[in-house]
Amino acid sequence: MSQHTFQTEVSQLLHLIIHSLYSHSEIFVREIVSNASDALDKLKYLNLTDDEFKSLKFDPRITIKLDEKAGTITFIDNGIGMNQEDLVENLGTIARSGTKNFLKNISGDAKKDSNLIGQFGVGFYSAFMVADKIEVVSKKAGEDKACKWISDGKTGYDLADAEKDEQGTEITLFVNEAGKEYASAWKLKDLVKKYSNHIAFPIFLDYEDTEWEGEGDDRKEKKVHKNEQINNASALWKKSKSELKDEDYNEFYKTFGMDWEDPLLHIHTKAEGTLEYTTLFFIPKKAPFDLYQADYKPGVKLYVKRVFITDDEKELMPTYLRFLRGVIDSEDLPLNVSREILQQNKVLASIKNASVKKVLSELKNLSEKDEKKYDEFIQEFNRPLKEGLYSDYANRDTLLELVRFKSTSVEGYTSLASYKDRMPEDQKAIYYITGDKEEVLRKSPLLEAYKKKGLEVLIMNDDIDDIVIPSIGKYNEIDLKAINKSDAAEDLKTEEDKEKEKEVEPFIKQVKDALGERVKDVVASNRLTDSPSCIIMDANDPSLQMQQMMKAMGQSMGMGEIKPILEINPNHDIVLKIKDSKDKEFITDVANLLLDQAFLAEGAELKDPTGFVTRLNRVIGRAL
Ligand code: ADP
Ligand code: MG
Repeated sequence: MSQHTFQTEVSQLLHLIIHSLYSHSEIFVREIVSNASDALDKLKYLNLTDDEFKSLKFDPRITIKLDEKAGTITFIDNGIGMNQEDLVENLGTIARSGTKNFLKNISGDAKKDSNLIGQFGVGFYSAFMVADKIEVVSKKAGEDKACKWISDGKTGYDLADAEKDEQGTEITLFVNEAGKEYASAWKLKDLVKKYSNHIAFPIFLDYEDTEWEGEGDDRKEKKVHKNEQINNASALWKKSKSELKDEDYNEFYKTFGMDWEDPLLHIHTKAEGTLEYTTLFFIPKKAPFDLYQADYKPGVKLYVKRVFITDDEKELMPTYLRFLRGVIDSEDLPLNVSREILQQNKVLASIKNASVKKVLSELKNLSEKDEKKYDEFIQEFNRPLKEGLYSDYANRDTLLELVRFKSTSVEGYTSLASYKDRMPEDQKAIYYITGDKEEVLRKSPLLEAYKKKGLEVLIMNDDIDDIVIPSIGKYNEIDLKAINKSDAAEDLKTEEDKEKEKEVEPFIKQVKDALGERVKDVVASNRLTDSPSCIIMDANDPSLQMQQMMKAMGQSMGMGEIKPILEINPNHDIVLKIKDSKDKEFITDVANLLLDQAFLAEGAELKDPTGFVTRLNRVIGRAL
């Protein structure tokens, strides 16, 4: 026997589960049964496809053995099994960095943590809520030795050699005070019905029942041994929709082990014709904790004629739909599809295309029929949809109808379609402003002229907006224009503006000379009312925010410094009063102040704050 300690993250996870999920302790049944079902899936696949396992006689099943007297519940499966390394790896460490990062964010505050863990598959360790000791005996298919893993779920586990005939895993829970209520046949039947009815393998309950014999005074108690199947054991997705209730879908969703809340939506499709397949997709209520991590766990499983093929294939769905969970079951693929074949398989590519279209059209339906629910969806998944605008050209038009934006005209989110509905007839473009803070954007001097003219501006503060939105160009033939770029204001220009421009021309030239290398250009602005100046970027240059983002990613891209264009408000008091001054030094100070304050209003940092303060004081001094 050898002693081992849990990896720190495992201890953390155990602590988290035990302290924040205790009111849901019954879910251990689902978790352990789902793992057994996964193990059967894996062996069934090898049995059908791998020469080494083809001769194996294999009758896949799960047995739950109850011993009320001993206070034990044992879950037995004859699936793929685990050898010693697997046990160490799977039941003592956490490998995915996404999971580790998630655990770093836990606070120790049970209430907060239980919200967090809602987006997180709890798995095997949930059994420690109901057991003070767990024994796992397992034998890996194709190997001779069995191994035993024993733990109290506190600091670590022991490993020892063991004896076992058939391949597979036996997990014995020694129930604790909280687990006592589950050591009962009717309770276990109840929980399996509730959580695991549609697991595709038969689940048997093996227990001792009490029966009565005889009549009247002769009535005698008799112990009878029973071993009966207690689940439906058919693949849920193959049933017809009319047979299934929302609850059935919801509980099935939870057997994926990635979430224990009901999903927001399920989409069940049967395709017949040139291609025959069934898909069942779920959209979670909350974004998965690893949504923005490169090693996220894909949530769609591939089956071929009811045989599980893989649950770790990111190519089954486009990356931007990585929050989908569910099943694709094809009748047209060979069972022995290899990974390499999968990735270029035509059948699968057609299923994928059709599935994406189906999911997007269901989302469109939802947005039309149930605004509140769609809003919940947007709160969590607007950003991945925007990634789709960039990566899924074929579905861009649909995606443009699905994404939402904040705006100067409405509270909450708006669609592009309703922006378009609100547009005055002579409005030439859809305007937007990008940046990283909503509050800063809403106060940007650039918005002044648009506000005054009653033009709506979309507020885009998602970090990817700057990359995605310019790549779209148009919505329904209407240009999308960034108002912090030099070409947007052309639309607003009037004859009067042009006259004003002429008037301040000499002053503009002086400012330009004074600022020299600090700017790309200085121009008279027609979009400012209250502010004396603002900065914009040349139409072909990246925005300020984009520059900051690239800097943060260590990518200056050899761009050198990108200089802004300074716009000056020809109607502003400061400008009116100084424009005819002959004091060159004074003009230089004011020119620099106009530029610096425009930077500050954009939420940018000043390169030379001391210079700014010196000039400011000189100008104030003069005014006093
Ligand atoms: P998950 O199922 O999300 O991977 P779990 O904590 O439920 O996480 O299980 C951890 C791992 O332990 C599984 O991925 C699997 O490799 C292994 N495992 C658990 N139960 C069994 C079992 N009955 N048979 C084979 N492997 C198992
Ligand atoms: Mg699991």
